[in-house]
Amino acid sequence: MEFVFPPAERTSLAVFGTQARFPVRRIFCVGRNYAAHAIEMGNDARAAPFFFCKPADALVENRASVPFPMATENLHYEGELVVAIGQSGANISPEDALGHVWGYGAEIDLTRRDLQAAAKKAGKPWDMAKGFDKSAPCGTLQPVSQVRDLSHGYIRLRVNGDIRQEADLSDMIWSVPEIITHLSGFVALAAGDLIYTGTPAGVGSLVSGDVIEVDIEGLDPLRISID
Ligand code: MN
Repeated sequence: MEFVFPPAERTSLAVFGTQARFPVRRIFCVGRNYAAHAIEMGNDARAAPFFFCKPADALVENRASVPFPMATENLHYEGELVVAIGQSGANISPEDALGHVWGYGAEIDLTRRDLQAAAKKAGKPWDMAKGFDKSAPCGTLQPVSQVRDLSHGYIRLRVNGDIRQEADLSDMIWSVPEIITHLSGFVALAAGDLIYTGTPAGVGSLVSGDVIEVDIEGLDPLRISID
């Protein structure tokens, strides 16, 4: 095929223990999936899940440095579990959902909280608060065959070594199978899609020089720094 200029390189992620890479298609994110975080943001803890997106090229890999983003004075971390989809499908039942999962990892849903607060207040979209350049740090992925049952286990986020978020994956309001069922009722999921599954309580601000680590029981930790 002939293009009018060379197309961008395919976004992909490192896979633990191999040179082969996971080709990324889209990034879907769950809003408010831990009751304590929903409450800290002033929301109902039992509302149905909702979704937003980040562009695939917002990904940054483990150990990267992220420049402090433009257009914000309140950059927040959100440590989360990422689900990597390996089997396409629409209207997936909860019983079949885990069969569509290729693997898991740790991620950070970086958020321009000031822009998000303004958007919420005005009833406007969150895209510029959530989907900015380098807003989607994601750790090394591990295939399901190499990980334990991730329906429970600790998730922790540290800033400069201090624990800021600490919860259990079983605290999720909507489990991974339930998330896949809901999301695949809105869009057909495709191999290569990533799902960022929401953050526990304890979100907060970052400044230049901070080192952020997300540690999920049984998974390779994610570590990035803010320039
Ligand atoms: Mn989030």
